[in-house]
Amino acid sequence: EGDSADFDEEVTSVCPFCGVGCQVSLKIKDGKVRDVEGIDGPANEGRLCVKGRFGFDYIQHPHRLTKPLIRREDAPDKGLNVDPGNPWTHFREATWEEALDKAGQGLADIRSYFGGRAVAGFGSAKCTNEEAYLFQKFIRQGFKHNNVDHCTRLCHASSVAALMENVGSGAVTASFNEIENAEVAIVIGANPTENHPVAATYFKQFAKRGGKLIVIDPRLQNGLKRHAAFNLQFRPSTDVALLNAMAHVIVEEKLYDRQYIEGFTEGFFEFRDHIRAFPPEKMADICGIDAETIRAVAREFARARTGMIFWGMGVSQHIHGTDNSRCLISLALLCGHVGRPGTGLHPLRGQNNVQGASDSGLIPQVMPDYQSVTDKDVRELFRHIWRGTPIDETPGLTVVEIMDRVYRGEIRGMYVLGENPAMSDPDVEHARRALANLDHLVVQDIFLTETAMFADVILPASALYEKTGTVTNTNRTVQVVRQAVQPPGEARQDWEILVQLARRVGLDWDYDDPREIFDEMKMSMRSLHHITWKRLETEGAVTYPCLGPDDPGQSVVFGDGFPRRAGRAQFTPARVTPPAESPDTDYPMILITGRQLEHWHTGSMTRRSLTLDTVEPEATCSLHPSTLRKLGVAAGGYVRLTTRRGSISIMAREDRNVAPGTAFMPFAFVESAANVLTNPQLDPFGKIPEFKYSAVRIEADTED
Ligand code: SF4
Repeated sequence: EGDSADFDEEVTSVCPFCGVGCQVSLKIKDGKVRDVEGIDGPANEGRLCVKGRFGFDYIQHPHRLTKPLIRREDAPDKGLNVDPGNPWTHFREATWEEALDKAGQGLADIRSYFGGRAVAGFGSAKCTNEEAYLFQKFIRQGFKHNNVDHCTRLCHASSVAALMENVGSGAVTASFNEIENAEVAIVIGANPTENHPVAATYFKQFAKRGGKLIVIDPRLQNGLKRHAAFNLQFRPSTDVALLNAMAHVIVEEKLYDRQYIEGFTEGFFEFRDHIRAFPPEKMADICGIDAETIRAVAREFARARTGMIFWGMGVSQHIHGTDNSRCLISLALLCGHVGRPGTGLHPLRGQNNVQGASDSGLIPQVMPDYQSVTDKDVRELFRHIWRGTPIDETPGLTVVEIMDRVYRGEIRGMYVLGENPAMSDPDVEHARRALANLDHLVVQDIFLTETAMFADVILPASALYEKTGTVTNTNRTVQVVRQAVQPPGEARQDWEILVQLARRVGLDWDYDDPREIFDEMKMSMRSLHHITWKRLETEGAVTYPCLGPDDPGQSVVFGDGFPRRAGRAQFTPARVTPPAESPDTDYPMILITGRQLEHWHTGSMTRRSLTLDTVEPEATCSLHPSTLRKLGVAAGGYVRLTTRRGSISIMAREDRNVAPGTAFMPFAFVESAANVLTNPQLDPFGKIPEFKYSAVRIEADTED
């Protein structure tokens, strides 16, 4: 680190990792990012976590793709046996012209021979809003269907489904910073000190000034547990039983907000009748939390003047993920904890731009701003804006459904931008076999990812600090990212590649600048009203909804009603659904997968950050000391994890925060890929896989 005189330039941008959306100052010297500091953005007020502060060096890694690549005619079979630093056995360099022609021709040929539905697309929550918008338009306009999705399907799709259903909007009702106005906050199925570290600093401050923090998770949390008034380490997958029991207490003890329920909700009486079957005394054995604690926590939340609920993928990544979220929404509605400062529902969004990519229409059921493809007026609006392109009225397929069709040979061509299904999909061997089946795969990325190893054409793209555009964080705040450095070699910005490829599949796109794309988005997206590029450049950030040209945006929404019929939110009763598979004699333990502080998702970026990978260079499986004793394995030894999908070897880590009988492992490491083990069964509403619960057998691994 040096002082500003050591650098040629300082450029303001946004951290590329998580949905907190910390603003950063990038220190540039000789055309490279040399240092990163937090600045006074609305979400971070100068703070950064280890990823934002030290993880930027991945953009200078020697494995960066600098030229387009085409699969060699004599390449061995498609698979993971490609060295990202020396891919020449499988790929050869090509000019942009040749690569774009081949990429576009391959997709167009499949469209001609098999129809547009034989091509599908995965876009990226790592790209800008403008790029996400272009990607969904590429598939919808070029191939005339809605089979386009992205990683929101693997993280908060069930939360969004429940929020859309019950409050009429898929985004948070209040920014996480509102916790400073709250008396009580529930954090459930989330581990913010690891996954949203700067947001976690606000949670700790809240507790330090006397706020009641209630942490509910099958894993105790190193970071938050000592700040919490209550730590409820409940049994995995029993969320609905526990949350319905809390609602039961609030109703039974008449702690609910009658005036709010009468004024702003519907469905209360049906909900009240439903939760009568969930007294805490009956649910205690099921969820592993004693009845008095359930009652105490319910009373704290209901009696508080202001309360918030934060949740993460521990809630959403279940086959009952939508029901879990319905329960949380009902709890907030019961207590009137929505629509005022210090109240709200906040699913902590994962990727830096997963909120923005979803808003921009990178979802198979909805166009930009969550406008349903089944609505004739919506289709007419986009037909008009997209110069006569008819919009398909059938909701498209989701990530896992697309991979199933690929596996069955019904989808024969794919365009994958910045996603890594060969690592991120559940039952990943199935996904890898599917990718190998494709007639034509175009991958656009910054590294030769595991997915790119299956590609026919690889298009070298840009990291966030190499591009210009807008991104939207978990708080609904739209922020501008500014190009600080040039992409390496011949790599290009993603929107430019999209435009060039679109022309190859017959689209007459003529965008010359991301601002033009943003202006087109504003034609159909009410959420962008009063948000202009100029404002973003001068003010740095504007939150939607924004009520006027001088309004910085609304941190809290729905104070005067909901965007649903009659302005009312809805109680939706949630039934208990067991996990898709339960422990048995062959697979007696429970595996939970997730992220860790130093690594990000499939590891393509953070595994190439020297600082971060030095701190955590190897995958570990966290096990309780009693489990290790039973296995006869010491911490640092190796264990073999086997599920009905596959088997891996991994180093054991002693962790008292993990309950006996459960195991936790991150999914960022290709050497011990967690998703070889995970269950692809889907939540029927959000279509999200059950990453958080697999029946597993764990044994000492004595092989070398
Ligand atoms: Fe980046 Fe998230 Fe860390 Fe902020 S909290 S620095 S956005 S990874």
